[in-house]
Amino acid sequence: MHYQRPKGTADILPGQSALWQRVEATARDILARYRYEEIRTPLFENEEVFSRSAGDTSDIVTKEMYTFEDKGGRKMALRPEGTAGVVRAYVENKLYGPEFQKPYKVYYMGAMFRYERPQSGRQREFHQIGVEAFGAETPAIDAETIALGRDLLMGLGAKSIRVVINSLGDPESRAAYHEALVAYLTPYQAELSHDSQVRLVKNPLRILDSKDAHDQEIVKGAPKILDFLSATAQQHFTAVQDLLDHMGIAYDIDADMVRGLDYYNHTIFELMSDDPVFGGGYTTVLAGGRYNGLVEELGGPQTPGIGFGMGVERAMLLAAGQVPAPHVPVYIVTISPAATATGMALASAIRQQGFAVDMDYLDRKAKAQFKTANKVGADLVLTIGDSELEADTVQVKAMASGEQQTLPMSELREHFAQVYAQAKED
Ligand code: ATP
Ligand code: MG
Repeated sequence: MHYQRPKGTADILPGQSALWQRVEATARDILARYRYEEIRTPLFENEEVFSRSAGDTSDIVTKEMYTFEDKGGRKMALRPEGTAGVVRAYVENKLYGPEFQKPYKVYYMGAMFRYERPQSGRQREFHQIGVEAFGAETPAIDAETIALGRDLLMGLGAKSIRVVINSLGDPESRAAYHEALVAYLTPYQAELSHDSQVRLVKNPLRILDSKDAHDQEIVKGAPKILDFLSATAQQHFTAVQDLLDHMGIAYDIDADMVRGLDYYNHTIFELMSDDPVFGGGYTTVLAGGRYNGLVEELGGPQTPGIGFGMGVERAMLLAAGQVPAPHVPVYIVTISPAATATGMALASAIRQQGFAVDMDYLDRKAKAQFKTANKVGADLVLTIGDSELEADTVQVKAMASGEQQTLPMSELREHFAQVYAQAKED
């Protein structure tokens, strides 16, 4: 029987995993510069956590969510995105309390699950690195979040990034826009895709995000949200732009951008790349926005929030390049079965001193073992044969110089760091 991995998933193998670790380490470093700390929430939640936050007309919830009933009859879902679980944790752990510094800034890294048609840059299990900042309403944190997104992508190796922003306004702006949008779309009702006909009743704003080509054609002539911003919303959006200007971050405004999740308001943004690895055109690698009503929606106190999610698989394409296989500084060659036990004890002692050591576990001939030592790029080869066993010594060869010496086992163990440093110097 041959099993295959589930459709839309990937095995991250040694070699590739080194690249993942590098991306994650770079991200952690950049996130720390912005004072974000890591939060880890469950890979699954009560289904309602997602349907209440992402919105029960969003594609993510209606079409893409992995839902299941557990043996206790609870409706659960694998997380399709990171924000809902973090907000749930924020509320449940009362992280809005006065003992916590505001804005409360957290990041997450991990797997997300969406039942989508797999294609390049689109998987069913994929990974996101995302941030959430709670408790700050000022445009300054919007601009900082966008700056962080840009720093992340540039830090990971993007050559140029296109920043696209829009504002979805406050509830007042949304209400006014909603009315105008429905008035515009209603005459096209019959022409809209089936999905969008449903959206027209339930959530017309969603239609702006339709992937259907004819819907998109119709949407081109629709009224623009930016013409319906309240004075407060307009002020906020202008301030974000001023701050981006001050920080020297170029951006485009796209009045048709709405984002796939229902919880956004005010500033939303996407960071895109036209790197050739994406096969032409702009691809969104990182996307987010402000969600001022979401904490309340999940049962917490009125708390503003803003965040983004970055697709790690897509960011990895930008990071590309190779991470060389790690070299093994010390290799132990054992020439008789009797030497194996002594070699293992020596390996263990050296590892405890902080060095990576490898040896032969296949009872191969000395020649084959030396070949492996060369292949893994060992700086130091330690050989134990019958005569060494008898004399309680070890043959020590510095590979760079080819110099050999025989050292008493006790001396080698005691002064290993010195012997190693000497071998590297030679
Ligand atoms: P799209 O319009 O491409 O479906 P989205 O709006 O669903 O994107 P978000 O929910 O905003 O995407 O997720 C943020 C980022 O996560 C995306 O920009 C992308 O880099 C990544 N992402 C989303 N879905 C997938 C997926 N199925 N496979 C790989 N990466 C994904
Ligand atoms: Mg999607």
